[in-house]
Amino acid sequence: MAEETIFSKILRKEIPADIVYEDDRVTAFRDINPKAPTHILIIPNYNIPTANDATEKDEAVLGHLVVVAGKIAKQEGIDEKGYRLIINCNRDGGQEVYHLHMHLLGGRPLGRMIV
Ligand code: AMP
Repeated sequence: MAEETIFSKILRKEIPADIVYEDDRVTAFRDINPKAPTHILIIPNYNIPTANDATEKDEAVLGHLVVVAGKIAKQEGIDEKGYRLIINCNRDGGQEVYHLHMHLLGGRPLGRMIV
């Protein structure tokens, strides 16, 4: 079984988070250290530690992350201007929390890439 992270505690509502969306498969909340006016993390409701651990059984939930990102972008009013979706993996990818998550960033021009 995957190790517990701070995101498991957020899912169980043991620590506070500014949750903007939740359903039976994914949960989304504002990043505590936002890098853009809109910075939201969308996570599966069970722990897949990294993109390396994703398997065929996770395909539906991982696809759902993108569908929900689009809904939240609309909710945030950034869908027309645009936004960026990022999944970091392991050390070189800058991953800090080992519960796979998608960053939704927007609300200002982000440039061509974040480095
Ligand atoms: P990553 O580097 O892709 O693993 O991103 C982890 C993100 O989680 C960072 O942007 C952190 O600011 C964010 N984060 C860490 N702890 C919390 C928390 N308790 N609530 C919201 N966001 C958090």
